[in-house]
Amino acid sequence: MDLEKYYNDPVLIAQKLIQFNTTNVSEKEIKDTPEGPCIMFVKELFDNIGVESEIYYSDLEGAKDRPNLMTKIEGDGTRNIPPLLLYGHLDVVSTEGQEWEEDPFAGVIKDGYLWGRGAIDMKGEHAIFLGALFKLIKSGRKLPYDIYYLAVSDEEADGEWGMKYLVNSKPEIFEGIKYAFGEIGGFSLHMMGKKFYPIQISEKQVTRMRITAHGEAGHASIKCTDSAVEKLSLAMHKLSTKNMPVRITKPVELMINGLADGIGGLKGSVLKILLKPSMTDFILSKLGNAGDLFYPLLHNSINITLLGGGTAINIIPSSVWFEADMRMVPECSIEDGLQDIKDIIGPDFDIDIKMYDQSGRDVDMKLYDGLAEAVKKHDSEAVPVPFVLAAVTDGRFLQRLGIQSYGYTPMTFPKDYNFTNLSHNANERVPVEALTFGTETLYDYLTNIYQGEF
Ligand SMILES: [Zn+2]
Repeated sequence: MDLEKYYNDPVLIAQKLIQFNTTNVSEKEIKDTPEGPCIMFVKELFDNIGVESEIYYSDLEGAKDRPNLMTKIEGDGTRNIPPLLLYGHLDVVSTEGQEWEEDPFAGVIKDGYLWGRGAIDMKGEHAIFLGALFKLIKSGRKLPYDIYYLAVSDEEADGEWGMKYLVNSKPEIFEGIKYAFGEIGGFSLHMMGKKFYPIQISEKQVTRMRITAHGEAGHASIKCTDSAVEKLSLAMHKLSTKNMPVRITKPVELMINGLADGIGGLKGSVLKILLKPSMTDFILSKLGNAGDLFYPLLHNSINITLLGGGTAINIIPSSVWFEADMRMVPECSIEDGLQDIKDIIGPDFDIDIKMYDQSGRDVDMKLYDGLAEAVKKHDSEAVPVPFVLAAVTDGRFLQRLGIQSYGYTPMTFPKDYNFTNLSHNANERVPVEALTFGTETLYDYLTNIYQGEF
């Protein structure tokens, strides 16, 4: 295969990555279309220009189809600067049940857009990372620090084949890394007449749990006065209808102050009142749709997703349960999160934590100003702001190793472009211009700005 054409064209890279169907079908299933061929293509690109990569497989059965690739672009070793990690996933979510105007795996370029599943989540972003790195390698220039590039499998499920595995079982490969750039951030968002560039500094935390109620058991013919079903259904009703308390955290404070300063005027001042806990919910209720965007950043929240209990239709069960997915604001401890639940449902329940991915602690803003400077240099209209993601990314695993991950893949989008509506949806597409903009901006950051921070 003629690989030369890819090295100076991030659009061709993104198109090729999209053409590998890497749909992540389910958490544990071995799929017909795993990430393997896509990640091996990236390896070939590095091999072909003389840069070696390591491939890591998880311990799970079938792991050979779901590799992870780590590449090191060595610096000149002249200065003691921590290496930087550019990372992302190459799996994508399913297109099932979605009506696409174009084949989601063809990589069609039409009307200035590259279409396809993964265009913005996150094969386009990989193309930006790779575009900048290939430009650097091809230039023959050595930077005063090392750059790592990591492409992982399985982000769209739980990372068991990918980042979660690497962080838990191969932490040594991250040795010395303090900062990383990953997905969701650094791209433009037109709002209230401004062109914001939210740079992700932190994200919410996920915990999943089973909550069990106990009560009097018996035959279905008796009158039951202390039933587990009644207790559980009351608890479910309360959890589904009551708000958890306002929790103001440092990263969200940075975000809201940044947005308020960017917007300015009366609207900016109103936004800042969100940070006064006694006023938060009142202001949210006045903000309409915007309130829905800020709500999850200012409260823990929980959704009940599974229900169970009982053994037979004619027996009153002694216990019944539900399972729930809770999202906690950054910096919130699990103890405080559980307290929010107990304050709503009361103390008479067993709560078993099934999973907790701690993240979002101690945000390190050291690189933020430089990241903002890079987008401003390449887009004179840019108003960068710190940003906290209500969802989660693989960055949460890196956090455990003390690595600060920023969501930073610079892209410029037209006014009518809506990243959130296109991600995971039909007709996912990325402006071709966004990929070249991203490559140039990131290259500038890597070659001119990062080393200046140390
Ligand atoms: Zn993603």
